Amino acid sequence: MKEIKHFINGECVGSDSGKTFEDRNPANNQLIATVHEGGQVEVDRAVAAARAALEGEWGLMPMAKRLDLVNKVAEGINARFDEFVEAECLDTGKPRALAAHVDIPRGAANFSFFADHVKNVATESFFTETLDSTGAINYGVRKPRGVIAVVSPWNLPLLLMTWKVGPALACGNTVVVKPSEETPHTAALLGEVMNDVGIPKGVYNVVHGFGPASAGEYLTRHPGVDGITFTGESRTGSVIMKAAAEGIRPVSLELGGKNPSIVFADADMDKVIEGCMRSVFINCGQVCFNTERVYVERPVFDEFLSRLKSAVEALKPGLWNADGSTMGPLISHEHRNKVLSYYKKAVDQGATVVTGGGIPKMPGDLADGAWIEPTIWTGLPENAAVVREEVFGPCCHVQPFDHEADVVRMANDTPYGLGASVWTENLSRAHRMGQQLDVGMLWVNSWFLRDLRTSFGGNKQSGVGREGGVHGLEFYSELRNVCINF
Ligand code: NAD
Repeated sequence: MKEIKHFINGECVGSDSGKTFEDRNPANNQLIATVHEGGQVEVDRAVAAARAALEGEWGLMPMAKRLDLVNKVAEGINARFDEFVEAECLDTGKPRALAAHVDIPRGAANFSFFADHVKNVATESFFTETLDSTGAINYGVRKPRGVIAVVSPWNLPLLLMTWKVGPALACGNTVVVKPSEETPHTAALLGEVMNDVGIPKGVYNVVHGFGPASAGEYLTRHPGVDGITFTGESRTGSVIMKAAAEGIRPVSLELGGKNPSIVFADADMDKVIEGCMRSVFINCGQVCFNTERVYVERPVFDEFLSRLKSAVEALKPGLWNADGSTMGPLISHEHRNKVLSYYKKAVDQGATVVTGGGIPKMPGDLADGAWIEPTIWTGLPENAAVVREEVFGPCCHVQPFDHEADVVRMANDTPYGLGASVWTENLSRAHRMGQQLDVGMLWVNSWFLRDLRTSFGGNKQSGVGREGGVHGLEFYSELRNVCINF
């Protein structure tokens, strides 16, 4: 049986307590590894190692050498590409095609992109007039923030973790990562890559475990941590924000969403169906930007619904490496219970189930997995649970609308403000939506088309701060103003 240990100061180490937990494949519930659970002792050691690296070789390293090493991490991931794909697929159950096209290449790109990016970001400089007329010059320098705690979720494990670790290391910080307890594999593999490419000991540390009263809580409350970057549920974000208040540590929070897609009658329906199939059902509906509310202009409502239903019914659930499989399971039985409770609430509140709504019959040992049917509902009021709350499953409610102003009001009527997609061939309307939808990220005639130079994050309860491009530098570095009086 595989054993996954912490990665502290460049070494794989077990827990002092001897405590472990199980890592199971959600496709068939088979045990794939036992994982060491970190406590206060392991978090203390990891934070101390990160501090020592910051004050030692890593902190003193010239930027060009540091960025060269960060680039090599990307090369190191790509050199072990198939291993990373398999590890991610076993932990999550997602199809190989998805991990091979999204999770792993984008995980590697998070290092190469920021290694190139940070060296080209200028700081400001001002000539300041003084009373004695000699003048002064002010200029900014960016310094690493210090030891960064990275707490990440299970839905895109390597991608979302490296989205933080990449810019953190490029800016000269050191990190202690607490990956999700559901998906410990790729964070552990990344430790091997760090050693292989020569990242100094203590720069990248991983402590496995859970949230409350476990590694997550101990890490986010640790006084030796200078900043906390978190991706996960809004409720957890609120707990972490409280922990960060002690010691006035800054946070970067990427949280939940209840994202709308708006389909206007002038949209190209082939593109709409292809886009909505991805935005609702990719990764079994477990992406923060997934659409869970679709608003369709009345003249094309019936056509949209019947075409989406046919496309959904053609999805092929199956094992990650099975030919033609296009859909994996949910992450766990626990999560499936939560999603099924929403499926039940939808029916109890009067939904028409267009397709799905239950558990599919899976062959052989897959019957023990956390499989669920992709589901479409219609007919619910806007205050129904599955229209208001984040389900995080392969499902959506489809609602007709008649006027642009009405759909904007419905789309914005949510405590979340993460993302939205709009489908229209009308350019003026596309720009109006860009002004009116209260979200951090809006896609027109696309979904999750990312340019890493642009900002990434959510409004309202979907997050605090922006990562991506120069925006991430606001969190991963501190700007210092130097004023020189002539
Ligand atoms: P989660 O909040 O349950 O867990 C995320 C991480 O936080 C895990 O590593 C967990 O162990 C840790 N954690 C939990 N409680 C903690 C505590 N009290 N203190 C410290 N750490 C704690 O989220 P999840 O279920 O892993 O992920 C799904 C959620 O993440 C969804 O709400 C989704 O929308 C959100 N998400 C947001 C984005 C984004 O970019 N905005 C991206 C992906 C996922």
